Amino acid sequence: MANDESESEPFAATREPPPRALTRVSPMVRRLLAPNATPFTFNGTCTYIVGEARVAIVDPGPADDSHLSALLAAVDGEQVETILVTHTHRDHVEGVNKLRAATGAQVVGAAPFMARGDGSAGLDSAHDRDYSPDAVLADGERWRGAGFTIEAIATPGHCANHLCFALLEENALFSGDHVMAWSTSVVAPPDGSMRAYMDSLDKLRGRAETLYWPGHGGPVLEPQRYIRALIHHRRQREASILNTLVDGPQTIPELVARVYVGLNPALTRAAGLSTLAHLEDLSERGMVVGEAAGGGEARFRLAQG
Ligand SMILES: [Zn+2]
Repeated sequence: MANDESESEPFAATREPPPRALTRVSPMVRRLLAPNATPFTFNGTCTYIVGEARVAIVDPGPADDSHLSALLAAVDGEQVETILVTHTHRDHVEGVNKLRAATGAQVVGAAPFMARGDGSAGLDSAHDRDYSPDAVLADGERWRGAGFTIEAIATPGHCANHLCFALLEENALFSGDHVMAWSTSVVAPPDGSMRAYMDSLDKLRGRAETLYWPGHGGPVLEPQRYIRALIHHRRQREASILNTLVDGPQTIPELVARVYVGLNPALTRAAGLSTLAHLEDLSERGMVVGEAAGGGEARFRLAQG
């Protein structure tokens, strides 16, 4: 799951859908698109092959036999040593077990999903609960492949177990669903957190990578500048929510209708979840108060004072 809204994203550039065919995108990286286009996944999940002869695969994508076959054909004659996983949303990870069975690769990366609460809220149902890695990478931990080094960077926000992977030899970063050029990320409580997401953006902004390979869509060029725009975009959204609440207490559907003008109707629920993430963050900061639902939709109002 990736997309928050298709309108009003910070940069219009690099929104071209990447080609479906196997593409060499850098000296060490090849990309293959999975056939799972939706309003949330753009034209599909990007699976990356890193290295030569003894390779790692970043995010095998959905459980789709045609994608698995194409992936195995792409690495024909090579050894897949490692499967790296950015996070456990199904569109990134559901193909792991078949790829592992076909290659004997070690599965390394994100921690398994852990529900906060009863596991039914937000986008909890989007997580693959059959995922069982051989090793979980901690923030800053390095994983050495044949001729390349991956550094894991904990980037919670889109979901709690999200990792980005820096490819040190190319000063590049696999950014998963945390930073994408085609769209902003959905941040859905309780697993997603707006505060964590903003902190994770700041964390990447302080790093030196000059090119990102996202989980959906084409590369992020000038990533530090792009991240500044993403942060600005979220602050503006927060400001519009606060401005709208000046008119009195409102429900999330009422806020979405006023704040997300021109929204693709397919993305209404995602916009509602992102709005909830802002409201949760604003509540923690003492700026907004949620009023008891009393049988209907909960209403939110500005805190007094
Ligand atoms: Zn996701």
